[in-house]
Amino acid sequence: MLLVETLIEYASHSLNRPFSYIYKGNKKIERGYRVLIEFNHREIVGYVTKVSETNKTVEELEDSLGFRIDEIKDVLDSSPLLNDDLLQLADHISEYYIAPKISVLQTMLPPSLSPRKSSLKAPKIAYDIYVRVINDDETGLTSKQIELLRLLSQEDKVLKREIKSVSIVNKLLESGRIEIVKEEKRRLAIPDYIYEKPPVLSEDQQNVVNEFNSTNDDVYLLEGVTGSGKTEVYLTLSDQILNQGKSVLFLVPEISLTPMMMEYFIKRFKNNVAILHSELTPAEKYDEYRKIAHGECRVVIGARSAIFAPLSNIGLIILDEEHVESYKQDVVPFYHAREIAIMRGKTHKAKVLLGSATPSLESRARAQKGVYHLLMLKNRINNQKLPPTTIVNMLDYRNIDRESYIFSKRLRQSLEKVLANHEQAILLINRRGFSTNVSCRKCGHVFRCPTCNIALTYHKTDNMLKCHHCDYVEPMPESCPECNSTYLMKTGFGTERIEEELKRLYPECRTLRLDSDSAKIRAKIPAVIESFRQKEADVLVGTQMIAKGHDFPDVTLVGVVLADIGLSMPNYRSSERSFQLITQAVGRSGRKDKMGEAIIQTYMPTHYAITLGARQDYELFYRKEMEMRKLQSYPPYTFMAAITISGKNEETVIQVAYDTVDYLHEHFKDDGVVLGPSTPYIAKVRDQIMRTVLIKFKNYALSHTILGDYIAIFSNKNSISVSINIDPYNF
Ligand code: ADP
Ligand code: ZN
Ligand code: ZN
Repeated sequence: MLLVETLIEYASHSLNRPFSYIYKGNKKIERGYRVLIEFNHREIVGYVTKVSETNKTVEELEDSLGFRIDEIKDVLDSSPLLNDDLLQLADHISEYYIAPKISVLQTMLPPSLSPRKSSLKAPKIAYDIYVRVINDDETGLTSKQIELLRLLSQEDKVLKREIKSVSIVNKLLESGRIEIVKEEKRRLAIPDYIYEKPPVLSEDQQNVVNEFNSTNDDVYLLEGVTGSGKTEVYLTLSDQILNQGKSVLFLVPEISLTPMMMEYFIKRFKNNVAILHSELTPAEKYDEYRKIAHGECRVVIGARSAIFAPLSNIGLIILDEEHVESYKQDVVPFYHAREIAIMRGKTHKAKVLLGSATPSLESRARAQKGVYHLLMLKNRINNQKLPPTTIVNMLDYRNIDRESYIFSKRLRQSLEKVLANHEQAILLINRRGFSTNVSCRKCGHVFRCPTCNIALTYHKTDNMLKCHHCDYVEPMPESCPECNSTYLMKTGFGTERIEEELKRLYPECRTLRLDSDSAKIRAKIPAVIESFRQKEADVLVGTQMIAKGHDFPDVTLVGVVLADIGLSMPNYRSSERSFQLITQAVGRSGRKDKMGEAIIQTYMPTHYAITLGARQDYELFYRKEMEMRKLQSYPPYTFMAAITISGKNEETVIQVAYDTVDYLHEHFKDDGVVLGPSTPYIAKVRDQIMRTVLIKFKNYALSHTILGDYIAIFSNKNSISVSINIDPYNF
């Protein structure tokens, strides 16, 4: 009989330890297998951490352990899910992020392999069934059978379902002339691009490549203005690594937004490329995952979770647009792909290359201190100039157009020029929907989300009110629920409204819109982007999704319709976010041979994030923003952790939140600053009430111990759950 220790699928700190079961069956079972077990009268999935032989009886075991032991109901795998390298990584992550180990494993594995009950329904391998000739002896066969046998002999193997006469095939199978070959089907269709000869590197690019190769640091930060040719540097270095027999892990923030990147890599490395990202179906993910695990592909391109790709012998890990916040997962275990990349880089002795035109303050500060090796691409390819940028002060009535309060005179002028010249424009606003606020004119009632309590946004396309924080939606009501008045007022504007305004002012203008609404349908994003690239529209309206990394040769105008939206958010990163948005947006205009321009409309025309963003002056912004962070002791000058306490009973939640503050004060003393408890912006999710406590500290090791102890004590309180977000972004 086997004594088996397993983690259970519930990702809670209080259950974050192995539980003992016995196994009497005859399937193979090892560390890293999933098993079906019963826990608290529920059938759930466990993840085996240890297996040992025992000659004791169940009763003896129960006596010595002091609790009842159940039997494992079934073994679900026939090989371990993770190799040693990834298992070790899981340990590091769970330790660094103070996260339940099972939550890390669930994050690392694709849906079909994840240790959770729901994964058992997720699709797995699909097979293609082929037949192949193994004996071409024709004696005793009918002429029909011979005809088919000869036909099949000409091919290596033939898809069985493509052969019309099932009975003849079966006869040939019975008589041992042909055999069945089952092959795993690769469901993800990788487009078949034509190989393109790489361009000769510019002098700047060559210098960067040489410096990278002639030095031996763990992490490099490639800072290069938009259009400086970072991609070609990535491709060149990847090629060199592949030639050394090693593999390459290449991360982009969101793959569906950067189809060009994928195209470049596939063109260069062909079917050596595997793709992993959130748009894939579970079956496709499973396929790609296994292909990588089997060593069939040595280049993996993907979004955040691709950092867990089971690649072996990694020689280079690249994070493009390293500043983008989607690299940070905002649920347990709250990891950041950059940190994981550095952990994996160490194990594989692989270099990590971070690239951006506007590096995150954290990365740039580390480079400044020599922790990362800073590489620079200061000029655009062919020394192309950055587009002239105009900031329009929307507070000054002289700038406001009579026909439209959304587009200034200046923006309209440029739009008209673009339309007349048959060029293209991009209009950005960081808010989707039509109006951001709907209220009753008579009694002032504001329509709010019943769970989050924030104002609902009106979406005209489907005539619905939507919450932008949870997935709550309701049809746009006819009248006020408080006073029955039918005078409902819509204020504020988002992408839908911009698109409508364009159509109203310029009926002949062809528009496309891209925001996370239009992105709800799979494959819609690349379709919209491609359509715009093919010039099937004059103006593309969208949220910051479209600010990143595209190359549209005919775009000569980029307008940021309202640049202040991010700045008014109470968040220590809001200036950085706005600066990045504006810089990326300006960089979109006037690539290739056409000169472009950028127009930025704002109510805060003198804010440094806006003025420096417009000038693309990263250096000055970095220095200014670092001063601000220092004054207010925010990262990168301190570390931060956010503790969230949640539960159904508000009083208990508040009590535990105050206990948390007391506990942290007592243990951190002068080594940390405890803030809160505070009511988060979204204070209620479904029936869970939430409070947060923030802590800033400088000594990572010490704080880590205190926080670990805190979790051990506080996670056992009934009906309350606590989570820790290390290096949080949204506070
Ligand atoms: P970045 O990622 O730094 O914004 P890109 O990699 O998109 O810049 O490069 C900008 C443009 O320059 C692209 O159209 C790319 O094809 C072109 N390019 C890059 N390197 C070279 C080169 N060595 N020779 C010619 N064109 C290049
Ligand atoms: Zn009313
Ligand atoms: Zn909501």
